[in-house]
Amino acid sequence: MSTPQPRANVAEIPPYVAGKPPTIRPGMTSYKLSSNENPYPPLPGVIEAVQAGVGAMNRYPDMGSSALYAALAETFGVPADHLSVATGSVGLIYQLVQAFCDPGDEVVFAWRSFEAYPIAVTAAAATAVKVPVLPDGRHDLDAMAAAVTDRTKVVLVCTPNNPTGPAVTQAELDALLARVPSHVLVVVDEAYLEFVRMDDAVDGIATYRRHDNVVLTRTFSKAYGLAGIRVGYAVAPAPIAAALRALSLPFGVSTIAQAAAIASLERRDELLERVDALVAERDRVVAGLRDVGWDVPDAQGNFVWFGLGERTRDFASAADEAGIVVRPFVGEGARVSIGESEANDRLISVAAVFAG
Ligand code: PMP
Repeated sequence: MSTPQPRANVAEIPPYVAGKPPTIRPGMTSYKLSSNENPYPPLPGVIEAVQAGVGAMNRYPDMGSSALYAALAETFGVPADHLSVATGSVGLIYQLVQAFCDPGDEVVFAWRSFEAYPIAVTAAAATAVKVPVLPDGRHDLDAMAAAVTDRTKVVLVCTPNNPTGPAVTQAELDALLARVPSHVLVVVDEAYLEFVRMDDAVDGIATYRRHDNVVLTRTFSKAYGLAGIRVGYAVAPAPIAAALRALSLPFGVSTIAQAAAIASLERRDELLERVDALVAERDRVVAGLRDVGWDVPDAQGNFVWFGLGERTRDFASAADEAGIVVRPFVGEGARVSIGESEANDRLISVAAVFAG
C-alpha cells in the first residue's frame, strides 16, 4: 500500500545541531557557551513588557506587527515598508530562499558558516554551493563571486561569520557586489552586527540603500538577548521586503515577542552598553588565548573559533569537565560563546592545555 511521501529532498535536509545545555555537576556552576547567547538576564523593563503581553495570550498577536515596524523604522531610519519581521532571523533566511529560488536554483554561501543555510536551501529544493572559508576563517569573496552561475539566485554573506568569527570589510563586499549580476539577491546576515569593532566593516544600511539586490537580516537574539523569544528583522528594498512579508507565517511573531522587541529598542542604549562589556570580555579572551599560544581567528562576534581538527571531541570533553559547554563541529573545531567572566576564565584555562 502506498503512503504519502514527502518530497525526496526532505530526507536530505541536514539536521540542525542545537547547542547542548550544561552538564549538571554537584557543587559546580556550569555555563552554556554553545549557542552564542547573551549571558545577561533580560532587563526588568523588557520583562514587564512581556508580562503585559502574557495577559493577552488568548488573543492572536497583531499580525501586522505595526508597532514593532514603527519602532524599527524609527530606530534605523528606514521606511517601514523596507522591513520584514519574522520568527528569528532564521525565519527570514528560509523565506528569502523560498521566495527567490525555484527547485534546482543555486544558493552560494561560505562554508563553514551558519548551519541553517544548507537546511533552508535544501528545504526549498534549491542547491547549496559551498565555498570554503580561507584558512584564517574569512569569507573567500573572490571565490564566492566566481561560484555564481546562471542558476544562482542568492548569495549569502555572513558577517561576522558564524562559527569562525571574522567580519567582511566594506571594500570586500563592494567588490563582490560589483561582480554579482544585479538579478542575484545578496543577503548580508548581520546576526552579530552589534559586536563588530572594525573601522572598515560593512555598513549594511548604506549598502542596501545603494543596491536594489541587497537585503540585511538581523536579530534580537544576540545583542538584545531575546534568543528565547524568537524575533528577527530584514531591511530590504520595498519589493524584497514585500515578498518576505507575503511568505510570513501568519501570526509568526507572538505578542510577547513584539512587546519584548519594542521594549528592547526603547532600551537600546543600555543593551548596547552590555554589548560593549561583552566585546571587552571577547577581546580579553582572544588576548588570553593568544598569550597561551592559540592562533585564533579574528573574533568580531560574541564567540571564538578553535580550529582543533581531530582534537575537537577531546577539547569539548575537557571543557565539559571544567563546567563549560562548547559547540563542537566534530573533526573541524569548536565554537565557544563569550559568557560570564568566570566562564571565560575557565575557557582560557582549558584552551591552554590544548595550545600549540
Ligand atoms: N544568522 C547567524 C549567522 C546565526 O548565527 C544565527 C543564530 N545562531 C542566526 C542567523 C539566527 O538567529 P535567530 O533565528 O535567533 O534570529
